[in-house]
Amino acid sequence: MRWIAYGLLALLGALTVLLHHGAATAKTADPQLSAIASELAGRQVTIRCEGLSGALIGARGESGRTEFIGDKPVSVSYLREGICQTLHAYARSHKDCLLPCRRPLDVAWSLNTLAHESVHLAGIRNEARTECAALRVIGFVARNLGASPAQADALAAYSITELPRRMPPEYSSAACPS
Ligand SMILES: [Zn+2]
Repeated sequence: MRWIAYGLLALLGALTVLLHHGAATAKTADPQLSAIASELAGRQVTIRCEGLSGALIGARGESGRTEFIGDKPVSVSYLREGICQTLHAYARSHKDCLLPCRRPLDVAWSLNTLAHESVHLAGIRNEARTECAALRVIGFVARNLGASPAQADALAAYSITELPRRMPPEYSSAACPS
């Protein structure tokens, strides 16, 4: 009977690995945000969400991350779970106000985070250049989440006014036109 026990153990082990893999994939890859990032990056990329529910910023002060190998970005970026949740809540919202009726700063921060990581995925590594380009595509991201042209313009202008001073100095550059 011992071989049956070993066989069952091996089967259980395989099932556990499969289940964990399935759960992780279902939980973290975000098709809607990946599609927006792919448009901006000009290639097929994946956005995954990680961390605690509701958290816009992780323990190391980051809202998103994209790794580079040499000067080439990988094809996956990670956003904090709260960034993904805020973007999806904005996409689902009624949008009765010009700026988001609820938590406009959180929405602007989250749009910017997706835009910023997408610019990294397009191949730009320098943080100031990346953020400069990201602020220019906030409206595009907002439009893709259901904002009207006027709402997208308002969110872009609000982001350019409110966000840079809330970031570390290396994210800003005098060369970026405001
Ligand atoms: Zn960055």
